Amino acid sequence: MNASSLETWYLQLTDRCTNACPHCFSSCSPSGHTVVPFTLARKWIHHMSVVAKKRIVFTGGEPFLYFPMLRNLVHEAAGRNLWPAVWTNGYWITGPEEFRLTLRYLADVGLKQVILSDDTYHGATPFAAFSDQLAPMASELGVDLRLARIEPKTPSAPPDYLFADHHVLAGPLMFRGRAAVECTAHQARWRLEDFDACPFLSFASPRSLFLDVRGFLNICPGFPLADMKIVSLKKFFMDFELEKHAAAHAIATGGPARLAALLSLEAPDGFVDFCHACWMLRHSPQGGQGR
Ligand code: SF4
Repeated sequence: MNASSLETWYLQLTDRCTNACPHCFSSCSPSGHTVVPFTLARKWIHHMSVVAKKRIVFTGGEPFLYFPMLRNLVHEAAGRNLWPAVWTNGYWITGPEEFRLTLRYLADVGLKQVILSDDTYHGATPFAAFSDQLAPMASELGVDLRLARIEPKTPSAPPDYLFADHHVLAGPLMFRGRAAVECTAHQARWRLEDFDACPFLSFASPRSLFLDVRGFLNICPGFPLADMKIVSLKKFFMDFELEKHAAAHAIATGGPARLAALLSLEAPDGFVDFCHACWMLRHSPQGGQGR
């Protein structure tokens, strides 16, 4: 695998969240109880900085639920010349002053960006009445604030194809994780044969990688390639051979249609989009990833 195109590391700190949104690609909720051990996270940050000094987005679940650890890891990442960002649902933004004071703790140790989910899937937010004040306040602290606004997909719309990146902050929902199960009932379905690629990412030169709370490095959330508790990140990049990962190789070379052929699966009802097909096949009993 080539790290030269890598722009972003995602590091999931927890699967615990204040919400259980139906579209969550990480299937997080208030009942999530896994938290990444601090010493492991610190080691991974060090390895990330050796492989590629790029943006690191701390995500969850809700990373602000573990604020002391988040702050220490932002400090660690900044100290290793990564570009620290955090993705939050903003449950803690109960007023402009609370926002400024909390963000200052992170800005002081090197936070560069906040990604704030603000869309219909996240429901009513505590910052709705003053959301237009947040970006200027963040900017005063040297922090870039971005809003993540995912939209419902028009039920009859054809599958989306060729996004620039699969971690887009706007645009229609991609049906991965819990969304593959809970958000597909009213969507039009398309033939398995139509899904003959992964149109969103490169397995040879990914733009982003997702290190989940259990320590697995995912090419895309929920698509693990290696256990970083066993293999070092540097060794993973040196040794990775796509051909040795049957599911990844199938998706990279022929999309969900090829994976279905590999698993000897048929799908008479079709799928909503590429990710829905990919997720459901990989999490079928034959796909072996569980749910
Ligand atoms: S098609 Fe599969 S690998 Fe590609 S972005 Fe969707 S879920 Fe990820």
